[in-house]
Amino acid sequence: MFANVLVEIKSKKVDKTFTYKIPDKLINEVCVGSLVTIPFGKRELEGYVLKILDSCDIEDIKEIKGLKKNEIVLNEEMIELGYFLQEKTLCSLSCSIQSMLPKALKAKKGVNIKKKYISYLIRTKKDEHLSKPNQIAILNLFENNREVKLKDAEEISASGVKTLIKNGYLEIIKKEVNRFNLKESMYSNEKTLTIEQENALKKIRQFYNKKTTILLHGVTGSGKTLVYIEAIKDVLKNNKTALVLVPEISLTPQLIDRFNSYFKGSIAVLHSHLSEGEKYDEWRKINEGKVSIVIGARSAIFAPLKNIGLIILDEAHSLSYKQENNPKYHALDIAKKRSEIWNCPVILGSATPDLNSMSRALKKVYEYIYMGKRAQNAKLPNITIVDMANEAKCSHTILSRDLEYKIIERLNNHEQVILLLNRRGHSTYISCSNCGYVYKCPNCDITLTYHKTKNTLRCHYCGYTKFFNTKKCPKCLENSLNYLGLGTEKLEEYLEEVFPTAKIKRMDTDTTKNKGDYDEVINEFAEFKYDILVGTQMVSKGLDFPKVTLVGIINADASLNIPDYKSNEQSFSLLSQASGRAGRNSSSGEVIIQSYMPLHPILNFVKNNDYKSFFNYEMKLRKTLKYPPYYFLIQIKLKSRDYEYLVKEITKVKKYLERNCDKKTIILGPATSNPFLVNKVYSFEILIKYRYDEKIKECLKDLDVLYQTDSKVTLDIDLSY
Ligand SMILES: [Zn+2]
Ligand SMILES: [Zn+2]
Repeated sequence: MFANVLVEIKSKKVDKTFTYKIPDKLINEVCVGSLVTIPFGKRELEGYVLKILDSCDIEDIKEIKGLKKNEIVLNEEMIELGYFLQEKTLCSLSCSIQSMLPKALKAKKGVNIKKKYISYLIRTKKDEHLSKPNQIAILNLFENNREVKLKDAEEISASGVKTLIKNGYLEIIKKEVNRFNLKESMYSNEKTLTIEQENALKKIRQFYNKKTTILLHGVTGSGKTLVYIEAIKDVLKNNKTALVLVPEISLTPQLIDRFNSYFKGSIAVLHSHLSEGEKYDEWRKINEGKVSIVIGARSAIFAPLKNIGLIILDEAHSLSYKQENNPKYHALDIAKKRSEIWNCPVILGSATPDLNSMSRALKKVYEYIYMGKRAQNAKLPNITIVDMANEAKCSHTILSRDLEYKIIERLNNHEQVILLLNRRGHSTYISCSNCGYVYKCPNCDITLTYHKTKNTLRCHYCGYTKFFNTKKCPKCLENSLNYLGLGTEKLEEYLEEVFPTAKIKRMDTDTTKNKGDYDEVINEFAEFKYDILVGTQMVSKGLDFPKVTLVGIINADASLNIPDYKSNEQSFSLLSQASGRAGRNSSSGEVIIQSYMPLHPILNFVKNNDYKSFFNYEMKLRKTLKYPPYYFLIQIKLKSRDYEYLVKEITKVKKYLERNCDKKTIILGPATSNPFLVNKVYSFEILIKYRYDEKIKECLKDLDVLYQTDSKVTLDIDLSY
């Protein structure tokens, strides 16, 4: 017997399988989906068996060396998804398959994450002739227990345990333990469905066993989660399984707790806050069919769940469903592929559907369900936009007078406040007021952010860090450095000054680095240990705090000014989401949006909670500017350390595209990327806009092949930009 093995090399140059002989001793163990070790040239590598062959005419064929894992790592569906992903993103097959798996199961020499066992002792012989008190004490542990943890017995006497084992009284057995266990749920689940929720569910029920995409458009607080839960109950009744995806930052203990209260013991969780060992254990639970529900972030879309009856993407508009590294896939594409395989519906839940989904719903390509009321009769929050240009005149540059006053009011009423500022660090740049010097990253064209708590200047792109505690400008040597730009650290510092008695907590990637930090902040805020929670967009998602009655958006312009065609859409959804945190219970909430562009249409759509006008406005803009959903968009990036060479090559790429694409296809650029320089690597980009171009994919594939052998530049194609 022979096997086609996909080796661990990610390069597209070796993007094919290699045939090996299966040695006799492994004939019963090696099968499709096995992770094996193989000789490759002079090296020993790892790889996946993708096919078993009866015969092979290669002479001097090498043999598979061994099995790395004694479980089947890839099932047929996953192999199919791997090929699909390769085709969809133009990455190598090895890259696509590896990205579907937890680290423990990746083909990679040197990674060795194992199952975890606990050793127990069992009693194998009864005998009354023992006289040593140690040994008697150990055996006494078995009076009420059939098994005793080895560790507990060794605490009495390690040598005693040894002797008892040697003399045949005790025997060690090993039991596997799951490293990850959900906590007992504290959530009470007696809520009945509202009429809107009931109707939504009725409509969803028509599509079980059909490959359909359903857009569930429900305003914040309308209770989409309860609809998901009821639908999942149906699916489980039919002996099928459900896959639930949420953006990473929405994977709060609150959300998991809520699912766990309904589906105790049937849930596996997959997200980046788990250790590699925990991920491995969760993954195996799914693969072995021990759970029927998977909740996770983007890559959980590849969970080896079988017999899927429902796939849910909550907050489907979120950019976090798109992977920015290779393979550059969107979770929705994989969801649709799996819905085809299992013949089941995909639900896209959102309070602010992205334009692509909404226009598909309007064209009836997607089914559409709308829920416009907040559950439990909670009112939508009252939103005010404050013109910061006026405030700056009264030197209120961080908090407007209105927001400051309202925070005091909330503090007096013992209510809670959430403040959103989408920039971490203290000051976003430091410059000299005497000579104009600005601290910049030596590797990137980016200003360094000052982090006061650690006294460092940091580049948020390449990670460059520099210790900093001087007042002197390094150029003119005057004491004239200014800390400009507002980050969460500075905001926190400012709040502590203005509200000295308030308990304030900051939440951003800097304060939630360690496992469990994030959960802790959320839990403590929910238990009312803090009055004010300030943070980046982490604070805007999926959280339900009944005592929060005021939300402040410190700088709404930050997201509106991002140079990306999606910035309006993203701002609308971020601001609406954040606003939705206020007044989740019946007392109505308030939101203050601070901006230097108070007349910006997007802010006013948010203020009026007017999705429809937002949609029409933005669609008109997209049509005029030829952006999705009217046009498909492909981004091509070319990167190199050699500037001169890069300029030459990007010009060639442009010419190549002009020669080979359809005449109606629009090719824009080359333009410098933003940022242009990261980690000493320059980057140019070309944007392709097209409606119908049958040749384009083939043309890009060929282009990709051309650059595979060029070691001086990297070509990056994003087909679903
Ligand atoms: Zn200076
Ligand atoms: Zn940098």
